Amino acid sequence: MLSDDVISALSATGAKLTPQASLTRKAYWKCGGPAELLVELKTLAQLQKVMRAVGRVTVLGRGSNALIHDAGIPGVVLMLKGELAALEIADDHAWVGAGLKLNALLNRLDQAGMAGAEPFSGVPGTMGGAVVMNAGTRLGEAKDRILVVELVLPGGEVLTLTAQDCGFSYRHSKLPAGAVVSRVKIALSPDPDGSRMTQREAFLVRRKATQPLDKPSCGSTFTNPEGDSAGRLIDACGLKGHRIGGAQISELHANFFLNDGGASSEELRQLIVHARRVVFEQTGTLLRPEVRLLGDWGLDPLSID
Ligand SMILES: Cc1cc2nc3c(=O)[nH]c(=O)nc-3n(C[C@H](O)[C@H](O)[C@H](O)COP(=O)(O)OP(=O)(O)OC[C@H]3O[C@@H](n4cnc5c(N)ncnc54)[C@H](O)[C@@H]3O)c2cc1C
Repeated sequence: MLSDDVISALSATGAKLTPQASLTRKAYWKCGGPAELLVELKTLAQLQKVMRAVGRVTVLGRGSNALIHDAGIPGVVLMLKGELAALEIADDHAWVGAGLKLNALLNRLDQAGMAGAEPFSGVPGTMGGAVVMNAGTRLGEAKDRILVVELVLPGGEVLTLTAQDCGFSYRHSKLPAGAVVSRVKIALSPDPDGSRMTQREAFLVRRKATQPLDKPSCGSTFTNPEGDSAGRLIDACGLKGHRIGGAQISELHANFFLNDGGASSEELRQLIVHARRVVFEQTGTLLRPEVRLLGDWGLDPLSID
């Protein structure tokens, strides 16, 4: 429970505060409970003040990789807007606010005749989420384009890290504990004839044919094990179409777990654990979840033990 002192310190920052804010429509899986206090911020100074006032926060980007507990998220949930979602394009680089949506980044770079965000084609997150997850596609990964990451630490200090300092690996980063990504500098190159746009379009057509984009999901539920694919393993174990309540493993792409209408977050969690257990028992491979669990889930909620 946030104390009255903390709430008045947060009010003084000028950020927009909404107690018990529903997050269901803000997260891609369309389930989960409310934020105890949703704080929408527009400036770096506000972010620093909030961090000084509360220290520990949960950041919600577009919730395109997040399973939110049915009881919601205790404490402060941050959403980054305004200058924290702005874009400044220069000759060979851009500063991208962590709250900027990746599709907006791609569109704005296309308009400017610049290439640089191709790895994010069809990835429905924000720039901040892309850093945390080292998001990517077969057109590359966030780490290939990132030059500098600006973060705000739990005490409110601003820290800038080079890509090498971010500990990037496949769908993973090692940022300082509790840090909020505020801005990212990415490398750009000129693309006057739009050739990379054409490459991206072909890529997106293929994705639309192979991914169930008509129902709520968080994209790939598990990362691919070395030399194999999580979808192939889940399919080989006969789990396509398997359901628990309103949660279902897609018939089209077995690594997509769908909210097929009214699924709770707990049903999705149980389905993830079930798939992990069955794949482990039948193949010996323990799949690593790619999705992040937000809220108080207790210790190791995706354990198969
Ligand atoms: C249809 C679909 C297709 C997808 N395809 C891909 C794909 O091809 N490749 C891929 O990599 N991913 C894919 N994803 C997953 C997802 O889009 C990415 O992981 C994305 O990077 C998540 O960004 P987000 O802003 O939605 O983060 P969220 O889901 O909101 O958050 C993810 C994690 O990052 C943290 N976080 C977010 N912003 C910040 C910040 N500013 N500072 C600190 N922490 C932060 C959150 O607290 C959480 O722990 C797909 C998802 C969907 C729904």
